[in-house]
Amino acid sequence: MDEQCDILVLGAGLAGCSAALSAADEGKKVIIVTKTPQLMSGNTPYAQGGIIYKGLHDSPEKLKTDILIAGDGHCWEPAVDQLVHLGPDLVEKILLERCAVDFDYNGDELDRTAEGAHSESRIIHSKDKTGKSIEFSITQKVQTHPNIKILTDHTVVDLLTLSHHSKNSVDIYEKPACFGAYLLNNKTECVFPNYASRTILATGGLGRIYLHSTNPKESTGDGIALAWRAGARCFNLQYIQFHPTTLYSSKERFLISESVRGEGGVLVDKNGRQFMFDFHPQGSLAPRDIVARAIHQTMLDTEHPCVYLDIRSKDPQWLQARFPTINQHCLDVGVDMTKDLIPVVPAAHYSCGGVGVSLKGQTSVQRLYAVGEVSCTGVHGANRLASTSLLEALVWGHLAGKDAAKTCKQKDYYPEIDAWEECSQRVDQALISQDWNNIKSTMWNYVGLIRTPLRMHRAQTIFHHLQSEVESFYRDAKMTKEIVELRHGIQTAIAVSNAAIQAKKNLGAHYIKEEE
Ligand SMILES: Cc1cc2nc3c(=O)[nH]c(=O)nc-3n(C[C@H](O)[C@H](O)[C@H](O)COP(=O)(O)OP(=O)(O)OC[C@H]3O[C@@H](n4cnc5c(N)ncnc54)[C@H](O)[C@@H]3O)c2cc1C
Repeated sequence: MDEQCDILVLGAGLAGCSAALSAADEGKKVIIVTKTPQLMSGNTPYAQGGIIYKGLHDSPEKLKTDILIAGDGHCWEPAVDQLVHLGPDLVEKILLERCAVDFDYNGDELDRTAEGAHSESRIIHSKDKTGKSIEFSITQKVQTHPNIKILTDHTVVDLLTLSHHSKNSVDIYEKPACFGAYLLNNKTECVFPNYASRTILATGGLGRIYLHSTNPKESTGDGIALAWRAGARCFNLQYIQFHPTTLYSSKERFLISESVRGEGGVLVDKNGRQFMFDFHPQGSLAPRDIVARAIHQTMLDTEHPCVYLDIRSKDPQWLQARFPTINQHCLDVGVDMTKDLIPVVPAAHYSCGGVGVSLKGQTSVQRLYAVGEVSCTGVHGANRLASTSLLEALVWGHLAGKDAAKTCKQKDYYPEIDAWEECSQRVDQALISQDWNNIKSTMWNYVGLIRTPLRMHRAQTIFHHLQSEVESFYRDAKMTKEIVELRHGIQTAIAVSNAAIQAKKNLGAHYIKEEE
């Protein structure tokens, strides 16, 4: 059965929840969708460090300067100004007062810490599980809001646009506009249209198109593919931030905080050699990008799937008290960090680019917004300052929800569309899993930390061939979440590799090595 609402929010991380609440507060009928069985989902619950608030001796100008430096001269200043001026107020109103997130206190004051490249201690946190606390509290508010309907276990297949879906052929002459989305009910495997006056894309990151990623499995970059196919402008996609050290094991990559190196941990190769001095005079304490690339190069040189972090010089009891969560994760995979070397690899962490948006989250397609990690507001430029992303998701989510509610009209045009054609062909799971292996290893090796023109061209050839294969079996396939994700994944990989190949200059997180 078809669905209809005023505002359709695609994604239930912090950005989606923030947008849903602000639109619903204006009295609009909101539907929020996630492809996961539970509402709490996406990268948000994985965030450990914290969210920017304000330091005791801080100012918007100081924060702005830190963001601009990290962004390597490529930030859009109006967006940075909006973030630094509105951000702290919205943290207070939404997260502290309305959601009562259990942030840590030091006496009567919120506990504030600094992270790399912050000139002030301005980051508030809830132990080392800030994202989980925020997502838990805000999803509670979403679940109890009378104007919000929740669709979990529903995957967005495509955005509905005038140019692609209207039965009225002359609609092609109208400005590109979105009037909802095709959703797949993962359980019944039926696809249906959800019509909406305004649609807000909040599908999060794309880390999972890479072999190694800190992101959860739902972060397959679906929103980039959806927007791309709808004709929305996407940019800065070449700026993928990689985290230098995640635990290498057969389980999901777990982030090993940079503070382990800060406390004296050193990086060694499989032969126990401290290789970082070959790359930078600061050795293991070199800047994040340099460490990540050095690890990647050393893995290639030694033909070994990881390098190691050695913190055995520290007192075992001190280590267990200082890093309880990391210690536990290591123990879970049989590594005792007080006695053993910790196997680590870099991993795709954050997408600085995405669907281009205005200060209110409007995309280049009418009636379509994008917020959070899927969007590109211009705040991050070519590289992200730590802990700005949760704040950006909160602020743009809130503003987009408000603007969508304000501009949404009863009389919006909904063209007639063709009924969804059900196909019955089951896709062989072996094909899907091999195609994913292909996407992830190609992105990792050719469009990853160290890029060369030859590698990127090779990636494009592989992806274009793969895309035609995937499209040909997609057309006749019985829809499942897996096939929909694969189609999105290959499209997003193409979008990122196109952006990387076109960006000739090394800037921020985009690094091209000259060919030997
Ligand atoms: C390990 C880790 C640590 C981090 N630490 C920090 C930190 O300390 N501070 C900070 O500011 N940032 C941090 N970040 C980044 C930050 O967590 C994210 O940028 C932010 O949470 C993104 O929020 P979002 O709402 O845009 O997307 P997400 O939280 O990723 O939510 C995306 C939503 O979209 C849904 N979705 C996706 N595709 C579809 C589809 N096709 N159909 C239906 N639903 C779909 C997902 O299920 C999910 O509900 C960290 C990230 C990671 C991975």
